[in-house]
Amino acid sequence: MRSRGELMGQAAPARDHLGWWLMIRCGCGYLVDYPVRLLIDHYGPEADLHLISARLRCLNCKERPVSVELVDRPDRRGEGHGGGTPATIKPLP
Ligand SMILES: [Zn+2]
Repeated sequence: MRSRGELMGQAAPARDHLGWWLMIRCGCGYLVDYPVRLLIDHYGPEADLHLISARLRCLNCKERPVSVELVDRPDRRGEGHGGGTPATIKPLP
């Protein structure tokens, strides 16, 4: 893992992650998934996911999230049922 100081050096354009969701986890226990497609509607395809995630606030307690990751299928997270493909979760690039 990189240190926080290096976050600005690497861009993660939203357009590279179309079809993914930002999985935003807060210290209060709140977890929300935000479609990258929707972020592109708001911020444009070149918007940096790092910058977007730095602006995000928890909808529940208004604090900054403790982690922001990418997930491809939020509905399948934490499940292994039916032999389907489980969600892939990865950190921001
Ligand atoms: Zn919260």
